[in-house]
Amino acid sequence: MLDDDGAMALALDQARQAAALGEVPVGAVVLDAEGRLLATGHNRTILDRDPTAHAEVVALRAAARSLDNYRLSGARLYVTLEPCTMCLGAMFHARLADIVYGAPDPKTGACGGVIDLSDQPRLNHHARVRGGVQAQDCGDLLREFFRARRKAARAIPSSPSQDPSDMPKQKPAPAQPASRPAAAGEHTHLVCGDPDCGEHHVHEQPSGIYLISPSGAVADPAKLDLAMERLRAMGFRVAADRTALAVHERFAGTDKQRLASIQRALKQKHPVVMATRGGYGLSRLLPHIDWQAVADSGKTFIGQSDFTAFSLALLARTGAVSLAGPTAVFDFGGKKVDDLTQALFQETLSGELEILSFESPDADPVDARGILWGGNLAMVASLVGTPYLPDIQGGILFLEDVAEHPYRVERMLTQLWHAGVLAKQHAIVLGQFTDYRLAPHDGGYDMHSVVRWLRQTVRVPVVTGLPYGHVKVKATLPVGARVGIATEDGMAHLVLQEHTH
Ligand SMILES: [Zn+2]
Repeated sequence: MLDDDGAMALALDQARQAAALGEVPVGAVVLDAEGRLLATGHNRTILDRDPTAHAEVVALRAAARSLDNYRLSGARLYVTLEPCTMCLGAMFHARLADIVYGAPDPKTGACGGVIDLSDQPRLNHHARVRGGVQAQDCGDLLREFFRARRKAARAIPSSPSQDPSDMPKQKPAPAQPASRPAAAGEHTHLVCGDPDCGEHHVHEQPSGIYLISPSGAVADPAKLDLAMERLRAMGFRVAADRTALAVHERFAGTDKQRLASIQRALKQKHPVVMATRGGYGLSRLLPHIDWQAVADSGKTFIGQSDFTAFSLALLARTGAVSLAGPTAVFDFGGKKVDDLTQALFQETLSGELEILSFESPDADPVDARGILWGGNLAMVASLVGTPYLPDIQGGILFLEDVAEHPYRVERMLTQLWHAGVLAKQHAIVLGQFTDYRLAPHDGGYDMHSVVRWLRQTVRVPVVTGLPYGHVKVKATLPVGARVGIATEDGMAHLVLQEHTH
């Protein structure tokens, strides 16, 4: 007779066996009505080239064979991860009495993780469904597996070396975030390093980049040329919008011209739309952009800084995902392109990057999932009270800024705190705050003081060291995507994509 813990321990053994075989570690066991072991199973999708070979299905088949009966009436199945719709359906058909799972699965869980089919009165068969048995161990095994396996997992120093002369006096132009409608049923995974992976219907391989200037004017056209050359050298086809180099006052053309460039970006053929730079100018365009058209275009928008306004408005109005990452001129138009920035950009676009690990020696303990959102702090704060700030509950908020004195950073954080934005997040992840100057009358008050104040003020875990900001070494981050964040031994891990089965 096996109890919950005994049965789940066997399922965990199965999951470990799966991991040893290169399969995602999910294990299952089936017990008969008396609690005796009938069958075991683990994921075999890659081994068997079988999309249905999830642990539960494998265990159900073995149990049915051992009973010589396709009905497993009264039996009980234990699985380390919340079942998907397919497996839950199979278990109902098998007439199981009880289904017990370990860790929740926010990606494909059919017992509340994504949808809840566990107790639908309109289905003709049911089972009692419970979750959370040894959830920590079950989840840890998955997390550890992904951490170890991700080819693209990489350690990034918490303090990227910065040459102050490289830093723009003004905020560099943000690029446009990639907007990608998260269509139900379509895998929109941004990551998977496994060529045999059966999880992704389509590995996105964006092959063309369209450059627009929705914010500040590009000061030096030669830098844009250089950026285009560099992007071509990476294998992209590249085109610049006809007003990418336009100038009107401090802007890259009049409002009308910049709006028209966004419209053209939706209609042209390249799948990625990148901002040439940040600066300022998107805020005044927000009411005039057709957000649904942006989301429906399927284009991947990428940018940063001022572009935060675009990303967050898109998220607020449509829920579509865009990318916070490099901009053409700042990241690819200078003397040197940072290797890691380039690699992270390409791996994120091609869907290879699954976990971004970085040093975070003082991080608060956290292990959470939520919508990743944020960007430039000044831009986030500027959207408070407008229809363009997404209302994210339980999110993972990332923030960076440049040329803002620590007291100004604190003041903007205070605004977000007072507006109720900070308290409802699962984690606050701080990127790089750079290019400010302390004065003697600060009396020792610096960015560390701000972080200390933040921790004392808001009861939300704070993680520092994110390689993102107005710096050379920067990650490409999916704004609006569901991600995980975990800290451990002085490292932080941003899980951009978890395979489940
Ligand atoms: Zn399944």
